[in-house]
Amino acid sequence: MGVVIRRTLAKHENMLAFKGEHATHCLKAIFGGVMSVFEEWGVRSVINASGAVTRLGGAPMPEPVLDAFCAAARESVCLDELQAAASRVIAAVTGAEAGLVTAGCSAALMLGAAAILAGDDPARMERLPQCDGFPHEFIIAREQRNPYDHAVRASGAKFVEVGFHEPVAGSGVRRVEAWEYEAAITPQTAGLFYVYDATARPRLEEIVDVAHRHGLPVLVDAAGEVYPRSNLKTLLESGADLVTFSGGKGIRGPQATGLLCGRRDLIASAAVQMLDMDDHPELWEPPTDFIDRTRMKGMPRQGIGRHLKVSKEQIIALLMALKLFSSGAYDRQRAEMTTWLQQIAATLEGLPVQCRLQVPGDGESLPILYVDVLEATAGISAMEVCRRLRRGEPAIQVGHGLLYEGKLVINPLNLNEARSAILARRLREELART
Ligand SMILES: *Cc1c(COP(=O)(O)O)cnc(C)c1O
Repeated sequence: MGVVIRRTLAKHENMLAFKGEHATHCLKAIFGGVMSVFEEWGVRSVINASGAVTRLGGAPMPEPVLDAFCAAARESVCLDELQAAASRVIAAVTGAEAGLVTAGCSAALMLGAAAILAGDDPARMERLPQCDGFPHEFIIAREQRNPYDHAVRASGAKFVEVGFHEPVAGSGVRRVEAWEYEAAITPQTAGLFYVYDATARPRLEEIVDVAHRHGLPVLVDAAGEVYPRSNLKTLLESGADLVTFSGGKGIRGPQATGLLCGRRDLIASAAVQMLDMDDHPELWEPPTDFIDRTRMKGMPRQGIGRHLKVSKEQIIALLMALKLFSSGAYDRQRAEMTTWLQQIAATLEGLPVQCRLQVPGDGESLPILYVDVLEATAGISAMEVCRRLRRGEPAIQVGHGLLYEGKLVINPLNLNEARSAILARRLREELART
């Protein structure tokens, strides 16, 4: 693959000229001024224009986050004390009573469900995922079922579905309604589960109202829904008992981190089911504002979430990322990102595509470039362009969410000027073939 290049590459115009071997050399510069660490191990590195997708390793961690990660790796700490401190930070940022740093949003979902199932009872904690003899059903809208609900079911919980999927089935216009959740509540119901996005129906407040009238908690999956930033607060303000977010998406913390936020008693239950509990009951002294052991009949042992452990480095790095994110430190980059996308659109002028640059007016969300491939004129489908970019050199991945509509989605989160110039050149090459 050639030699290690120790220079950074400058300008857009220069980049457009690079081809073949040259492009490989450029790539090394682009991935940090040295040969890509992945290529040293024989793995292709990828230009990621898809955003914070897990498949490609998530979001880029800002320098202060990386520094925090390395600094934390050099010392030891009591994990329960560190999580207690994290809880206070998460509480301050989200308005929740307490919070826990988890191994991703999926992990937060499983721990949240486990906390609702077991509460303060160490005997139940020990039995999970066996739940015979106590309420363990979560009510969920059929239209909200998705592959991440493995996480909730892994706790031992069972789903009870309500509503239909009418608009997608093409059979009607109605969405699931609050009364349907209420009608499904039985003595076996442990809680209501809700997957949040701005278009989800019924609104979260209505679900919370139904649940609380029956003394039941609501667990919310809001993994990537961190824009607008106020979501970090408003979802909890709606009264939801537990809300989960990914740490490695918009927040730009370590890819394998997440947040569980909400009621103090439930967070304590989740924490003891995740933390390493190999200690003497006589010596166990968790911070009392985080884990109130007087509520528990005994000291829990290793719990169902023990395989979801989070490292001290991940916790510290996520706290730093959360601080940057919640203070609006990322907003400044939007202007520069918009310029990259404008340059890509300009490079595609005259080709059989329609570009639409969307710059959200909230001042927070990322700009996105939609490239509509006019297949009849271009003689190539968006799917095929996407495939060729992936197989090409360097490998490039664009957003694939609208391929069936003939659109490529360019998300600038993991781009920089040099990478976006290469992306523009490769798009031009593939679209100008005919
Ligand atoms: C990404 C995502 C998850 C999983 O989040 P991780 O942090 O990757 O574990 C769960 N639910 C939804 C809806 C998601 O989009």
